[in-house]
Amino acid sequence: PTPKGSDYPLLIKQLLTRSKLVSATQEIVSGTDTRLSYAQLNKRIAQLANTLTASGVSAGMRVGVMDWDTHRYLECFFAVPMMGAVLHTINVRLSPAQVLYTINHGQPDLIMVHQDFMPLIDEIRSGFDRDITIVPMGDGEEYENWIGGASTSFDFPDFDENQTATLFYTTGTTGNPKGVSYTHRQLVLHTLGLTSGFGSFSGNAGFHRGDVYMPLTPLFHVHGWGFPYAATMLGLRQVYPGRYTPDTILQLIASEGVTFSHCVPTILSMVLDDPLCVKTDLRQWKVIIGGAALPRGLQDRAATEGISLHAAYGMSETCPFLTVADLTSDDPKVQAQTGFPGPLVDLRVVTPDMQDVPHDGETTGEVVARAPWLTQGYLGDEQASEDLWAGGYLHTGDVGFIRENGSLQITDRLKDVIKTGGEWISSLALENIASSCAGIEDVAAIGLPHPKWGERPVLVAQIVKETDPDLVRRSVKDKIQSRVEVGELSKWAVPDDIIFVAQLPKTSVGKLDKKLIRQDISTRSDK
Ligand code: ADP
Repeated sequence: PTPKGSDYPLLIKQLLTRSKLVSATQEIVSGTDTRLSYAQLNKRIAQLANTLTASGVSAGMRVGVMDWDTHRYLECFFAVPMMGAVLHTINVRLSPAQVLYTINHGQPDLIMVHQDFMPLIDEIRSGFDRDITIVPMGDGEEYENWIGGASTSFDFPDFDENQTATLFYTTGTTGNPKGVSYTHRQLVLHTLGLTSGFGSFSGNAGFHRGDVYMPLTPLFHVHGWGFPYAATMLGLRQVYPGRYTPDTILQLIASEGVTFSHCVPTILSMVLDDPLCVKTDLRQWKVIIGGAALPRGLQDRAATEGISLHAAYGMSETCPFLTVADLTSDDPKVQAQTGFPGPLVDLRVVTPDMQDVPHDGETTGEVVARAPWLTQGYLGDEQASEDLWAGGYLHTGDVGFIRENGSLQITDRLKDVIKTGGEWISSLALENIASSCAGIEDVAAIGLPHPKWGERPVLVAQIVKETDPDLVRRSVKDKIQSRVEVGELSKWAVPDDIIFVAQLPKTSVGKLDKKLIRQDISTRSDK
């Protein structure tokens, strides 16, 4: 029999054990006016847990959060899972109808809502299919008063490390977001993987003791890519920027001495475009770019500011860390590569029958992976979960090749989705709307490369003979606009253009050949 205590479960509370002692006086900055020490953070985590308990939350229940990137969110990252409840990080960038869908599907019992998202809650709450306690949080006193009277100690229990800790939704091809969840064990191992993958194997460009950390990937996006857990475990000085506004971000970088951030390319472009940028010294700033390939143009602009920039790769379903570019290299080409698998990541590029392609730097296949922190499946969707894990490896839906030295390069995507400014748009949803318009024979929604947003949606349509393209264009536009107005579609899902073609190419099995359509349209717009 296992001696009592020797089966130490991997729990999120353990990420705090060291920093609570070693970094007790280290600072966590939130926005321009909140400062906490790690000692205070730990007390506030206990206060939040006590307050949630008093509000009726117990182990196994779910707590939703809708907030900007603040110290409150960080407190939720710990308090909620540590008390045995599940943290549902609600993606506030989805359309209102999708936010409602994720709430009804995720079934939170209580949602903590920043005042800026109260109008959204008011818009959708009549559609809630259960009683949900809504806790409004302002930037100042409201939350402080809510947790302030509670005891600063809470006896966080041990429990099974395989218990679910977090839940969030990712937008898929089918239109409905899919629930992805992670256990305590997975998050602890991911944190260790991240700190060694970005720390031990890296030079100065990595994530180390002495860094000042500021997330620029929203905390509802795959736990801010897991870095807030890592930064807290390391006891780093942390800076939470609140709502992302480029001048506040730049001010915080300067005033707090931020050295390490991560974001999608669009956010970094936004920051570099801000007039304050030329007056800010960014030479200490290291940025990891993920969520999309690192564009050469962005690299050049970052280089003129003296920013150290590297690419990394992962996805919602992988917690997200899979690979990171060689952080020891000074070569911009190498820094932009998808990179080497993180520690413990078993990553392959395979043919449809799961045979490895040669590592020759050119033969492409699908990227599949195993690691101790990949999601076990989609909440309540067995078929999609089985497909995700077909053949015993998680299928990323990304296409790439492996170089002789083992580094990965993503070259394309199998999954039929469009990614703009770091957010997914379902091409199927756009196609469904457009195809219901009179005069449309066949239609494809594709993502075209865009310098600011990465990709932008465009419709490519074949119309019924002898119909007036202008009429069709107007009717498609109106229909899409009406879906935005009722909150079914987000504003940024509105296609930039509708292009008419004589014939849409099909694959051998009669499906729209998106790859060919994308190629045709891109070469056209190049001219
Ligand atoms: P994230 O929060 O990392 O953006 P998502 O699940 O929303 O997670 O998106 C993951 C997808 O983004 C990947 O499957 C891939 O298609 C794309 N992606 C992420 N990182 C890279 C990269 N370095 N190069 C190319 N594509 C990437």
